[in-house]
Formats: sequence, C-alpha cells, structure tokens
Amino acid sequence: MIKANPYYSDLSANYLFQEIAKKIKEFKEKTPDADVISLGIGDVTQPIPLACVEAMKKAADEMASASTMRGYGPEQGYEFLRQAIVDNDYKARGVDIDADEVFVSDGAKCDVGNIQELFSVDVLVAVPDPVYPVYRDTNIMAGRKIEFLPCTKEAGFSPAFPKSKAELIYLCSPNNPTGAVLTKADLAAWVKYAKENGAVIVFDSAYKEYISTPDIPHSIYEVEGAKEVAIELRSFSKTAGFTGVRCAYMVVPKVLKAIGGKGEEVFLNAMWSRRHSTKFNGVAYVVQRAAEAVFSPEGKKQVREMVGYYMENARLIRETLAAKGFTVYGGIDAPYIWLATPAGMTSVDLFEKLLNEAQLVCTPGSGFGQCGEGFVRLTSFGSRENTLKALDRIGKLAL
Ligand SMILES: *Cc1c(COP(=O)(O)O)cnc(C)c1O
Repeated sequence: MIKANPYYSDLSANYLFQEIAKKIKEFKEKTPDADVISLGIGDVTQPIPLACVEAMKKAADEMASASTMRGYGPEQGYEFLRQAIVDNDYKARGVDIDADEVFVSDGAKCDVGNIQELFSVDVLVAVPDPVYPVYRDTNIMAGRKIEFLPCTKEAGFSPAFPKSKAELIYLCSPNNPTGAVLTKADLAAWVKYAKENGAVIVFDSAYKEYISTPDIPHSIYEVEGAKEVAIELRSFSKTAGFTGVRCAYMVVPKVLKAIGGKGEEVFLNAMWSRRHSTKFNGVAYVVQRAAEAVFSPEGKKQVREMVGYYMENARLIRETLAAKGFTVYGGIDAPYIWLATPAGMTSVDLFEKLLNEAQLVCTPGSGFGQCGEGFVRLTSFGSRENTLKALDRIGKLAL
C-alpha cells in the first residue's frame, strides 16, 4: 500500500469539540421542546452589505454578454480590487503598500493553510495558546515542531515570547477566541524579536473592522520596519459578512527575504507569486466586484452598520454578564467575549451549566488550547432577538 503523509497521524482529533457537539445533540433529543440558543456561533448571520449584492448582480450581468464576459483573471487578483485595498485599507491609515504586494484569495483560512509552504520543514513555529486551530494544524500536517505561547489573563492575553528561537510566528489581533487586541507597543516588540531572530510573523487581522479603541493598530505595518519581517492576512468574511461569498487577501511585502535552497537570498513576494500562479486561478470576478463595493461610500456605511449591530450585541453580553458578577474580557474591539468561569468550575462545567439550566450553547475555552481552560467563548454574531433572550436567561440563572 502507498504510504500516507505520516504527519497527519500527529494531528489530535479535537475530542473536546466532538464531545461538546454530542452533548448538544443529546440535550436536544432529551428536551425536544427546548429553545436552544447558540452563543457559540463563529459565523456571521446578518445579510451582506447591499452595495456588495448589487455589485455582484451587475458583474453577473456582464457575464451574459460575449463583449463583457470574463474568463480566467489575473491569479493575484484584479487590479481594481488590489488598488481599492491599497487605497482604503492601507493608504487611508498612513501605510504605504504597493498593489503588487497584495494577493487576493478565496479565504484567510486557505492563506493560513498555504503560506507555511514557503518555509522549510525544520523551521520552529510559534503559535499562541489559546489558538485559532488552523495555525497549529497546518504546520503539524507539514511536519513542523510547534512551541505554544501562553496567553494569560495577567498579560492581558498577549502571547508570551518564545523560549526557543522561533522563526515562524503567528499572531492574531483582534483575537479569536479571546477578543484581546495587541497594542502598537506589543507589535513593535514582536517586530523587534523577529528582526533579532531572523523570524517571519504571520499577522492575522481578520477582525480589524471591529476595533473601536483609538491607537490599536489595524495593520502590523503601522509599526516601523514591520514590512521587513511580516506577512499580513485580511478577510472580507468578518468585515463584510463574506463567509459564504469567499474573498480575502494577503500582503507579502517585496522587501521580505529568506534563505533559499542554495544558500542564496530569496524574496517571499516572488515565491508567493510563483506559488499562487501555479496552484491557484484567482477568485471569481463577480466576487471581486462585490469585494470592491465594500470600499464604496454606501459599502463603507453598510459595513459600519453591520459591525455596529454585532458590537451592540457584544456590549449587551459584556454588561449583562458583568452585572451578574461574572468576569468578562474582550467584546470591545472584537466580536468575541472571553468569559472566566466562576471559581472551581472548568470550561466544560460552565458549558454544561449554561446548556442544562439556560438552554444556551457556548464554546469551552479548553478546546482552543490548555491556556483556554477556565474560560468559555461567547460570540456576538447572533440576532439581537436571540442575544437578548439569552441574556434574559443568564439573568435568571442561579449561581
Ligand atoms: C474567521 C477567521 C478568518 C477568516 O477566514 P476566511 O477563510 O477568510 O473565512 C481568519 N482568521 C481567523 C482568526 C478567523 O476567526
């Protein structure tokens, strides 16, 4: 028989999340009349901005005529979208990025999964704990060693620096699952670490649109010198409700260098361009037109309204829980609330209490890593009606 990639055997099945799904299923079977509300959803629920829907329809109509139809587009993304990204997401915040440094893709998850290919298998990887599991699992699949960086409440859930010399570092701000953000000083310290250790940072800012605190960086490139050490991931999924539409982008600066197979200097932008055009044929034209519309005046207004809707949910969740005596983190610059379990309760204990006594679903923090123990993740992606109903039940809960 053919030998399989051996590293897949190193992936641990997420027993906890399987266990949780089973418990929810059993609860629903046992109490079929219960109105179970999920505060655990990691997907958006509100319609995507109308400006994007209209742009998509217009682009679909162009496909109906031979003179305006589009076939294969540029692998890296249409110039109109890359330029709109550069002007609106970077220049407007004082960051100078070239359109050639932007690569449009069908999702930040795929970008996270694919970018590790550019690095040697013996590179030591550092990922935060708790973690968005894709950073960890894609590197396990490739056979790399991983150091976990504890994110403790004492440190404001900012990851600790690696004990070993890490060379590929994943950072996520605003953070999924903790809702914490990294300050400019935090990011400057990571840029300094990367320079001193010849490391590359993969910075995931999928939730940048949710930042409300002034001075919190939306981009790692707001830090001086970051272009020499960082790749940045962005997505239209959470910023414009594109989870089902699929569009994201990655910035690979042209100055970013590594050591090639013959000891020579190689440029990651050129390598990624080669990889992208070999293995990818671009995002659908209609989708790129929809993404472009995010930056139109109506699109921007509608995105602000959508984000405002979720963040009002977040505020309600945070304040109701705090008034009930819970300790809550996040929910200010991110759609996630990181709720500390009451003394003596594990993540799973609180999950079970909320399910059995209030018919509410949350995500146990221990599923995201050891340092997630003692917390559960709540999301603000539900409807207002369900969020209010859920909070009413929490208010009545006996603690
Ligand atoms: C949702 C999410 C993404 C976005 O993934 P897409 O594939 O673009 O939908 C990226 N990173 C994190 C941390 C996320 O939670």
